[in-house]
Amino acid sequence: METRTILHIDANAFFASVEQAANPELRGKPIAVVGGHGRTVITTSSYEARAKGVKTGMAIWEGKRHCPELIIVVGDNKKYQHTSTKMNEIFRDYTPEVEAFSIDESWLDVTHSLSIFGNAENIAYLIKARIKYQFDITVSIGIAPNKLLAKLASDMHKPDEVNRDSSRERCTYTGAHANSRALRRR
Ligand SMILES: [Mg+2]
Repeated sequence: METRTILHIDANAFFASVEQAANPELRGKPIAVVGGHGRTVITTSSYEARAKGVKTGMAIWEGKRHCPELIIVVGDNKKYQHTSTKMNEIFRDYTPEVEAFSIDESWLDVTHSLSIFGNAENIAYLIKARIKYQFDITVSIGIAPNKLLAKLASDMHKPDEVNRDSSRERCTYTGAHANSRALRRR
Protein backbone atom coordinates (compact mmCIF):
# COMPACT_ATOMS: atom_id res chain seq x y z
CA MET A 1 0.00 0.00 0.00
CA GLU A 2 1.22 3.47 -0.81
CA THR A 3 2.47 5.44 2.17
CA ARG A 4 0.54 8.65 2.47
CA THR A 5 1.77 11.96 3.81
CA ILE A 6 -0.83 14.04 5.60
CA LEU A 7 -0.47 17.52 7.07
CA HIS A 8 -2.80 18.69 9.79
CA ILE A 9 -2.83 22.48 10.00
CA ASP A 10 -4.28 24.15 13.07
CA ALA A 11 -4.41 27.94 13.41
CA ASN A 12 -3.27 29.09 16.85
CA ALA A 13 -5.81 31.01 18.96
CA PHE A 14 -7.65 31.56 15.69
CA PHE A 15 -10.47 34.01 16.59
CA ALA A 16 -8.18 36.04 18.84
CA SER A 17 -5.42 36.07 16.19
CA VAL A 18 -7.86 37.30 13.52
CA GLU A 19 -8.99 40.10 15.85
CA GLN A 20 -5.41 41.09 16.69
CA ALA A 21 -4.46 41.08 13.01
CA ALA A 22 -7.47 43.29 12.17
CA ASN A 23 -6.88 45.78 14.98
CA PRO A 24 -3.30 46.87 15.75
CA GLU A 25 -4.40 48.17 19.15
CA LEU A 26 -5.11 44.61 20.25
CA ARG A 27 -1.73 43.21 19.24
CA GLY A 28 0.47 41.97 22.03
CA LYS A 29 -2.39 42.36 24.50
CA PRO A 30 -4.48 39.90 26.50
CA ILE A 31 -7.79 39.63 24.68
CA ALA A 32 -10.74 37.29 24.99
CA VAL A 33 -13.33 36.69 22.29
CA VAL A 34 -16.97 36.11 23.29
CA GLY A 35 -19.67 34.70 21.04
CA GLY A 36 -21.88 37.79 20.74
CA HIS A 37 -23.33 40.80 22.55
CA GLY A 38 -24.60 39.67 25.92
CA ARG A 39 -22.62 36.44 25.82
CA THR A 40 -20.46 35.88 28.83
CA VAL A 41 -18.39 32.80 27.99
CA ILE A 42 -14.91 33.13 26.51
CA THR A 43 -14.63 31.20 23.24
CA THR A 44 -10.95 31.95 22.52
CA SER A 45 -8.25 34.04 24.09
CA SER A 46 -4.92 35.37 22.89
CA TYR A 47 -1.68 33.79 24.06
CA GLU A 48 -1.04 36.92 26.14
CA ALA A 49 -4.28 36.18 28.02
CA ARG A 50 -3.55 32.45 28.29
CA ALA A 51 -0.23 33.27 29.91
CA LYS A 52 -2.23 34.92 32.72
CA GLY A 53 -4.44 31.86 33.19
CA VAL A 54 -7.40 32.80 30.98
CA LYS A 55 -8.99 29.72 29.40
CA THR A 56 -11.66 28.88 26.83
CA GLY A 57 -14.99 28.25 28.56
CA MET A 58 -14.37 30.69 31.41
CA ALA A 59 -16.94 33.35 32.20
CA ILE A 60 -15.76 36.91 31.54
CA TRP A 61 -15.65 37.70 35.29
CA GLU A 62 -13.51 34.64 35.86
CA GLY A 63 -11.12 35.63 33.08
CA LYS A 64 -10.86 39.14 34.53
CA ARG A 65 -10.07 37.72 37.93
CA HIS A 66 -7.01 36.04 36.39
CA CYS A 67 -6.19 39.02 34.19
CA PRO A 68 -7.78 42.35 35.22
CA GLU A 69 -6.53 44.09 32.05
CA LEU A 70 -8.29 41.51 29.83
CA ILE A 71 -9.87 43.12 26.74
CA ILE A 72 -13.22 41.60 25.72
CA VAL A 73 -13.91 41.45 21.98
CA VAL A 74 -17.29 40.43 20.53
CA GLY A 75 -16.66 37.75 17.93
CA ASP A 76 -17.52 38.10 14.25
CA ASN A 77 -18.08 34.71 12.66
CA LYS A 78 -18.25 36.16 9.14
CA LYS A 79 -14.74 37.54 9.52
CA TYR A 80 -13.43 34.19 10.81
CA GLN A 81 -15.16 32.27 8.02
CA HIS A 82 -13.69 34.64 5.43
CA THR A 83 -10.15 34.15 6.77
CA SER A 84 -10.71 30.40 6.97
CA THR A 85 -11.80 30.27 3.31
CA LYS A 86 -8.75 32.29 2.26
CA MET A 87 -6.42 30.03 4.24
CA ASN A 88 -7.87 26.94 2.59
CA GLU A 89 -7.30 28.58 -0.81
CA ILE A 90 -3.60 28.84 0.05
CA PHE A 91 -3.57 25.18 1.09
CA ARG A 92 -4.92 24.25 -2.36
CA ASP A 93 -1.77 25.71 -3.94
CA TYR A 94 0.03 22.69 -2.48
CA THR A 95 -2.49 19.91 -3.09
CA PRO A 96 -6.04 19.60 -4.40
CA GLU A 97 -6.76 17.20 -1.54
CA VAL A 98 -7.73 19.59 1.24
CA GLU A 99 -10.28 18.59 3.85
CA ALA A 100 -11.48 21.27 6.25
CA PHE A 101 -12.11 19.71 9.65
CA SER A 102 -13.28 22.88 11.39
CA ILE A 103 -13.06 26.63 10.86
CA ASP A 104 -9.38 26.65 11.86
CA GLU A 105 -8.18 23.12 11.13
CA SER A 106 -7.59 21.31 7.83
CA TRP A 107 -5.99 18.15 6.61
CA LEU A 108 -3.89 18.18 3.44
CA ASP A 109 -2.95 14.98 1.65
CA VAL A 110 0.36 16.02 0.09
CA THR A 111 1.41 12.51 -1.01
CA HIS A 112 1.42 13.48 -4.68
CA SER A 113 2.94 16.94 -4.12
CA LEU A 114 6.16 15.77 -2.50
CA SER A 115 8.02 15.40 -5.78
CA ILE A 116 7.23 19.04 -6.62
CA PHE A 117 8.13 20.58 -3.26
CA GLY A 118 10.83 18.19 -2.09
CA ASN A 119 9.37 17.08 1.21
CA ALA A 120 6.50 17.67 3.60
CA GLU A 121 8.51 20.01 5.84
CA ASN A 122 9.12 22.33 2.88
CA ILE A 123 5.40 22.48 2.22
CA ALA A 124 4.69 23.06 5.91
CA TYR A 125 7.17 25.93 6.20
CA LEU A 126 5.97 27.55 2.98
CA ILE A 127 2.39 27.43 4.22
CA LYS A 128 3.36 28.77 7.65
CA ALA A 129 5.22 31.67 6.07
CA ARG A 130 2.35 32.57 3.74
CA ILE A 131 -0.28 32.40 6.49
CA LYS A 132 1.90 34.53 8.76
CA TYR A 133 2.61 37.06 6.03
CA GLN A 134 -0.91 37.30 4.63
CA PHE A 135 -2.99 37.05 7.83
CA ASP A 136 -0.47 37.55 10.66
CA ILE A 137 -1.63 34.22 12.09
CA THR A 138 0.61 31.42 13.32
CA VAL A 139 -0.29 27.78 12.70
CA SER A 140 0.84 24.46 14.13
CA ILE A 141 1.42 21.75 11.55
CA GLY A 142 1.61 18.02 12.13
CA ILE A 143 3.01 15.61 9.53
CA ALA A 144 2.13 11.91 9.63
CA PRO A 145 1.02 8.95 7.50
CA ASN A 146 -2.64 9.39 8.51
CA LYS A 147 -5.10 12.04 9.66
CA LEU A 148 -5.28 11.05 13.31
CA LEU A 149 -1.52 10.98 13.83
CA ALA A 150 -1.14 14.24 11.93
CA LYS A 151 -3.66 15.87 14.25
CA LEU A 152 -1.89 14.52 17.32
CA ALA A 153 1.43 15.74 15.92
CA SER A 154 0.12 19.28 15.36
CA ASP A 155 -1.06 19.33 18.98
CA MET A 156 2.31 18.34 20.37
CA HIS A 157 4.18 21.63 20.13
CA LYS A 158 1.87 24.59 20.14
CA PRO A 159 2.02 27.29 18.99
CA ASP A 160 3.85 27.97 15.75
CA GLU A 161 5.66 24.68 15.19
CA VAL A 162 6.02 21.92 12.64
CA ASN A 163 6.16 18.41 14.04
CA ARG A 164 6.58 15.12 12.24
CA ASP A 165 5.00 12.15 13.94
CA SER A 166 7.30 9.40 12.70
CA SER A 167 10.44 10.81 14.26
CA ARG A 168 8.75 12.40 17.28
CA GLU A 169 11.34 15.07 16.81
CA ARG A 170 10.56 18.69 16.88
CA CYS A 171 11.53 20.57 13.77
CA THR A 172 12.73 24.09 14.31
CA TYR A 173 11.32 27.08 12.57
CA THR A 174 14.47 27.80 10.57
CA GLY A 175 13.92 29.10 7.09
CA ALA A 176 10.43 30.40 7.67
CA HIS A 177 11.58 33.98 8.11
CA ALA A 178 13.60 33.82 4.90
CA ASN A 179 10.59 32.33 3.15
CA SER A 180 8.30 35.14 4.27
CA ARG A 181 10.79 37.69 2.99
CA ALA A 182 10.98 35.90 -0.34
CA LEU A 183 7.19 35.92 -0.55
CA ARG A 184 7.02 39.63 0.07
CA ARG A 185 8.93 40.14 -3.15
CA ARG A 186 6.42 38.16 -5.18
MG1 LIG B 1 -6.76 26.10 16.53
